[in-house]
Amino acid sequence: MYMEPCIPLPLEQEVLDDVVDKARDWALMHGVGMRRKDNFSKDSLSFAPFLLLPSTFPRTEFERSLRLQTVLNELVHRVAHDYEFLHQSLSNACKVDEFTRRLFEIYEAVRKEGGAQSLSLGLVRSDLMLESGCLKGSACKRHRNVPRGPYCCWKQVEVNTIASGFGWLGPEVSMGLLRSDYFFDEPRNSVKQVEINTIASSFGALSTVLVHAHRYILAELGHQDKLEHLPDNNALQGLCGGMLKAWSIYGRESAAILFIIEDVTYNICDQRFHEFEIRKMNPKVKVIRKNLTEVGMKGSIDSERRLFIDDVEVAVIYFRSGYAPEQYHSDLEWSARLLMERSLAIKSPSIHYHLAGSKKVQQELARPGVLEKYLNNSEDIESIQGIFTGLFSLDRNEAGDQALNMALQNPNNYVLKPQREGGGNNIYGEEIKEFLMKIKDSDERSAWILMEKISPPLQRNYMIRPTLKEPMFTDVVSELGVFGVIIGDSTNVLVNELSGHMLRTKVCSANEGGVASGLGALDSVYLE
Ligand code: ADP
Ligand code: MG
Ligand code: MG
Repeated sequence: MYMEPCIPLPLEQEVLDDVVDKARDWALMHGVGMRRKDNFSKDSLSFAPFLLLPSTFPRTEFERSLRLQTVLNELVHRVAHDYEFLHQSLSNACKVDEFTRRLFEIYEAVRKEGGAQSLSLGLVRSDLMLESGCLKGSACKRHRNVPRGPYCCWKQVEVNTIASGFGWLGPEVSMGLLRSDYFFDEPRNSVKQVEINTIASSFGALSTVLVHAHRYILAELGHQDKLEHLPDNNALQGLCGGMLKAWSIYGRESAAILFIIEDVTYNICDQRFHEFEIRKMNPKVKVIRKNLTEVGMKGSIDSERRLFIDDVEVAVIYFRSGYAPEQYHSDLEWSARLLMERSLAIKSPSIHYHLAGSKKVQQELARPGVLEKYLNNSEDIESIQGIFTGLFSLDRNEAGDQALNMALQNPNNYVLKPQREGGGNNIYGEEIKEFLMKIKDSDERSAWILMEKISPPLQRNYMIRPTLKEPMFTDVVSELGVFGVIIGDSTNVLVNELSGHMLRTKVCSANEGGVASGLGALDSVYLE
């Protein structure tokens, strides 16, 4: 299913060449940049891959996604404070997944000792895609080759065994004398949640800048009348505001905000913009940047469990790393994480927040009756359920076997996910089958969850990448990210806010759309 681009395409070659030239310079000169993986240098930046035009997104679904964010913040917050639920949800995964187990051990250790800091700072990003409700296996171009099977958004109403008419509708709805009737159970292009991130949610800053690039580009192309379709985005200010609130709550003027960074940072502009914005919003606040190894070597806590890096006290810790096993080279990095968790610094995320953002927890939350434990308002519950898509445990039991068989029969309708973050970890299509056949008799199944594949609508756009000479005019699909800020402890929520959004768009044939790697790029929403 296609959505109309914001302006008629393609552009005339001359117009295109001119505007792409300007757009690339605009991006570079305003910091929509990254360090290059293929040619790393601290002295230079490339522009971050982006779409020439903002992508069309239905206004009602955009607004719905924003409205839901404070409910999702609260949900994650409550779940993060439910030890029993986290324990139950993750216990099987912990048996077979060392990374999750080590995180959980830190959680247990801090609980046992009694955490010095009861407050957490959640800087979360809920990622959503539009479900186009295509009829897999027939009408949809993307699924033409998918074996006829379950219908993504179509529900069976009844099966008629006599006088079944409408054979012309094709084999999907007419099988000889036996006809199944289907109806489309929700509006097309309704948002579905891909995942929620509680650690290192990036691109808040670059997205805040990019919308101005898109306004400039549309104006250059003579479409000034369209600018009002691009909503303001204040993700950067929202996220930094959250860190500054946590800093104020900590209450020591000389204490810094510590960014936990990777050993090599490619996404430097996004991170630095946060740092610069913090200084701009409150010139008293110092930001320091350290990787886990440096914290391991230079970090200490005093008798009040105040955290120091050398002799700088830390009020707030903002993790932009620490979500992947390869970021913990040895026990030194693990001891650094434990030290920070034990400390009085307010962490984003604290360990229980990190665990609450795992794929397994997302899947457990989608079980019937679970949301009711955390949310009181029935409308909220219904709205959140409405954005969940099919999520299945693969544990070794009857339900897990059923899910496994569904995936084996129709692998193209699902995504297989491990307990990992950062992109590039999931398994798709026929490889699901191969992989499941290998692990189906082992406990390793519990390290994975199965998720229904969302089929977003396609649209045409020009993707601009530093590694490509020419813009790529291609079919793309988008993923909306909505940022939220929440501060609270097990009994009180002090701050709960929506804080902007981002859009990532990828070539439609790509399974994943990593911006730095992969075939993804930054984008803005054009509301229709
Ligand atoms: P990560 O934490 O590594 O970002 P995600 O769950 O977001 O893991 O998956 C990575 C990417 O895979 C997403 O950005 C999206 O492009 C794709 N993806 C994940 N789940 C689905 C799904 N259910 N349907 C379609 N695409 C998906
Ligand atoms: Mg993630
Ligand atoms: Mg993701």
